[in-house]
Amino acid sequence: MTAADLDARDPLREYRSRFHTDDADPVVSYLDGNSLGRPTTASIERVSTFMTQAWGGRLIRGWDEEWFELPITLGDKLGRVALGAAAGQTVIGDSTTVLLYKIARGAAALRPDRTEMVLDRDNFPTDRYVLESIASELGLTLVWIDSDRRSGVRTADIADVVSERTAFVLVSHVAYRSGFLADAPAAARVAHDVGALLVLDLSHSVGSVPLRLDEWGVDLAVGCTYKYLNGGPGSPAFAYVRAEHLPEFRQPVWGWMGRADAFAMEQGYVPAEGVRRVISGTPPVLGMIAMQDTLDMIGEVGMEAIRAKSVALTEYALELVRSDLVPLGVEIASPENADERGGHVTLDHPDFREVTARLWTRGVIPDFRAPSGIRLGLSPLSTSFEEVRIGVLAIAEELRGRT
Ligand SMILES: *Cc1c(COP(=O)(O)O)cnc(C)c1O
Repeated sequence: MTAADLDARDPLREYRSRFHTDDADPVVSYLDGNSLGRPTTASIERVSTFMTQAWGGRLIRGWDEEWFELPITLGDKLGRVALGAAAGQTVIGDSTTVLLYKIARGAAALRPDRTEMVLDRDNFPTDRYVLESIASELGLTLVWIDSDRRSGVRTADIADVVSERTAFVLVSHVAYRSGFLADAPAAARVAHDVGALLVLDLSHSVGSVPLRLDEWGVDLAVGCTYKYLNGGPGSPAFAYVRAEHLPEFRQPVWGWMGRADAFAMEQGYVPAEGVRRVISGTPPVLGMIAMQDTLDMIGEVGMEAIRAKSVALTEYALELVRSDLVPLGVEIASPENADERGGHVTLDHPDFREVTARLWTRGVIPDFRAPSGIRLGLSPLSTSFEEVRIGVLAIAEELRGRT
């Protein structure tokens, strides 16, 4: 089927018109919705109304009326529409890096007699560095999985290294490089079999792949909101703490906003009841506004329909890559089986650094991941099949231009 046919039959096609496009500087193919999602027109309006009416109008009263609870009310909504998490376990908080530190330290504290943390060599840099910092801080040992760069962490890889020494296993549900989709419920079982916890990084799966954190037995999780949730540059991340762990859960940054009865200004830190204890200081309210429109769209459409579009987009991209790019020496560096793939596809070619720079000047925007990868991030609500076609053909042209 042609891109035009696929677009015409796409049940989500109407949603593309909900995203803002800048006619003064047109992007003809945006293939980086997994790094920075596009803004919706509704969110431009919502942020502007927030400035004038909520901030400008309610002023300090806004804290009592809405903002103090917003990290939790918005967390509950995210949990409901995208995480498969019942209310009271999800909070919007700090950056992904900072929340991952707080959650991973909290995970280690839930298993105080254990000495090892398991992670993989190809996890996102922040995930590796944060665990290195915790290892040096607490004297714990990092147990590394040497995962395949073109696929990812398989359940058997985890089973090979966990033991009664393991405090927790950290896995990126969708690998940032290859797009490999880990088997989260199986990873949870393997961790639990030895009494360890599973911490998931959902940065590249939330809003793209259906999640059932409660059902899968995931213990703790963090994820980004500026990728598939379109929260805008630097919008705050979310954390999930499974209800059964909340009474014992302690994170290391004790601030007034996470204390029981914050406004009593009492002596001594006592963690708040429930998921509020994940919060440290004043929440970044302004950064929580834009994502709300994407959560509304996800609630309307449902994650199953979003995943179906996502699979169709990546399948179509791979079909074009096989016909037009593989003959030019491009290698597919993502799983070719859709059940093992999230919402992006990575391609390898030694010239891709220069090719990406030239693509950007012509309004074709994938991203480059060293040493030689182009990632096509196909955000299901905002990306058309036509954009995929334009993008892949532009890569072919740039590669041919060089030879
Ligand atoms: C994007 C991403 C992050 C980003 O962390 P920040 O603190 O927001 O910069 C972290 N982990 C993974 C797996 C990511 O994909």
